[in-house]
Amino acid sequence: MKLDTAVFSVLKDKIQLINMEEGGIYLVGPIRLPVNLEGETVVFQWYSWLKQDEVTDDYEAVIERLSSANLAEYQQSSVLVYGDFEGADEALIRMHSICHTGDIFGSKRCDCGFQLKQSMQRIVDHGAGALFYLANHEGRGIGLFSKAMAYVLQENGYDTVEANEKLGFVDDSRNYEDAIAVLGTLREKPVTLMTNNPKKVDAIEKAGLKIAGRTSIWGDRSEFNENYLKTKVVRSGHLLDEEEEIHAKR
Ligand SMILES: [Zn+2]
Repeated sequence: MKLDTAVFSVLKDKIQLINMEEGGIYLVGPIRLPVNLEGETVVFQWYSWLKQDEVTDDYEAVIERLSSANLAEYQQSSVLVYGDFEGADEALIRMHSICHTGDIFGSKRCDCGFQLKQSMQRIVDHGAGALFYLANHEGRGIGLFSKAMAYVLQENGYDTVEANEKLGFVDDSRNYEDAIAVLGTLREKPVTLMTNNPKKVDAIEKAGLKIAGRTSIWGDRSEFNENYLKTKVVRSGHLLDEEEEIHAKR
C-alpha cells in the first residue's frame, strides 16, 4: 500500500524510534485519552509501542507495512502518562502486568484489577506519573492459555507458584527491558515505583532505571484471593505494609 502524503505528514511527528541492543521499538504518541476513573473524567496522554527485530527510520515504510502485519494476533503494550511526567521532581510509576481475568472481567481470584485502578488513581492524586500496561506479561509471562491450565491446577490444591512450575515454567519470566527503554525516552529523572514486589524493584534497577523509592499497593482482600495473596508474600517475597502484616498474622 502506498501511503497518502497528507496522512504521513500527520503521523510522522508522533512516531519515534528507540534503538535497542537488538532491534528497536517504535513509539507512537502522545494521544489524548480521557478516561472514566471512578466517575470522574481524567485526561491521560497515551502511547503505544511495537518491538521489532529489524528497524528502519523510514517511518513511511513502517506505516505501509501495518495493514499486512496482522498485529491483532499479537499483543502490543502501552503507557498512560499523567501530568508533567518529564519535568516533575517526583513521579509515580506502575509497571502493570496484563491480567485478562482481573483487569477486564474483574476476577476476584487475584488483585490485579484493583491494583490497576488504584495505581491510576494514585498517579492522578500525586500529580505526575505513568502506568505501563505490559501486554506480554499475562500470568507472569506464561500466557493466557497456560494461565487457564494453572487455574485448573490451583482449583486442585496447587499454589500459584507450584502450578506454573508443574507446567514447566519458571515462576516469573517477566521482562521489563522494553518498558524501561520507553520510560527512558519520556523521563530522565528518578521515579517512585508502585509495587509490593522487591524482586521487581531489583530487576528494574538492574535494567538501568533510576528508582527514587517504592510504595506498596495492597487491597481488595477477599475469601477468593486470600491464598493467592498469601502465596505472593510467603513464596514470592512480596512485602506487606506494617498494618497489613498484622492483618495477615491473624
Ligand atoms: Zn490477575
